[in-house]
Amino acid sequence: MSNSYSLMIHGGAGALEDLKHEASESTFHQSITAILEQGRQRLAQGDRALDVVEYCVSLLEDDRLYNAGCGSVLNADGQVEMDAAVMNGRDLKAGAVAGIKQIKNPIALARRVLEHGEHVLLMGDGALEFAKFCEIEIYPASYFITAARIQQLAAVQVSGGMTLDHERVKPSQKLGTVGAVARDLQGNLAAATSTGGLVNKRWGRVGDTPIVGAGVFADNETCAVSATGYGEQFLRTVLAKTISDLIQFKDLDAAAAAQAGIDYLVRKVNGDGGVIVIDAMGRCASAQSTSGLIRGWIEHGGEAYCKLG
Ligand code: ASP
Repeated sequence: MSNSYSLMIHGGAGALEDLKHEASESTFHQSITAILEQGRQRLAQGDRALDVVEYCVSLLEDDRLYNAGCGSVLNADGQVEMDAAVMNGRDLKAGAVAGIKQIKNPIALARRVLEHGEHVLLMGDGALEFAKFCEIEIYPASYFITAARIQQLAAVQVSGGMTLDHERVKPSQKLGTVGAVARDLQGNLAAATSTGGLVNKRWGRVGDTPIVGAGVFADNETCAVSATGYGEQFLRTVLAKTISDLIQFKDLDAAAAAQAGIDYLVRKVNGDGGVIVIDAMGRCASAQSTSGLIRGWIEHGGEAYCKLG
């Protein structure tokens, strides 16, 4: 199995009970499976894990089903502010952007930060200026905002608080943060995560997604991880790196480490969310404390699977 590829993607965690009875269940299945198959083609022809996770996440960002890129949730001011990060397990290089607006594919900008190499994380106006320097197109704010997101924000503002995208919203609005992890034919691992964050978040709030070790992590010696859930809880538990450490220091495999990580998240901070993990042997796993986690995987070049619960 050492010379086979594996790929896993997610479309967010949350309360998905209603979704199982909705026509949209098949919509998610179709979307996840189509993106997995496109990622498979690239991995099978020998493309690098780093390129494939960026590619899969950019496809997820372009799909209005998910809370990333166009279709991102709205902050308390009714604006889209996005976070994204990508990490290469071969050399621990990482690139991330936080609180960015008007960039069609935040993960592509995060990748430019990684390639540029000078910094790991750029935010807000500085990130936008870097995008212009990289000749990345700036989109109008209206491209990102959907009618469903305006309704969702209004509903959350009436009840107060902040929510995960999937939580306490109508089934038709159950959409989510996105991520991808991969192992390529050379045995390299990579991880990428992208999000619009939490509905009704304070402007300027940054979650776990662009923070290396919290919402994303990759190390060829251990695993690649992408997380989704309440960002503050993943920040406080440094969850993606914790899962890597469980593999490094406790010799767990992907499944045991993913579950032990989520157990730790729940025990320490009563956390809500989920993770997808591929370990150095290419084994795919996920674990979650929410009732739903939209995910799909191809293990060791085999069949593509998709699960929502
Ligand atoms: N983790 C993301 C955040 O807190 C939200 C999510 O995964 O749905 O920004």
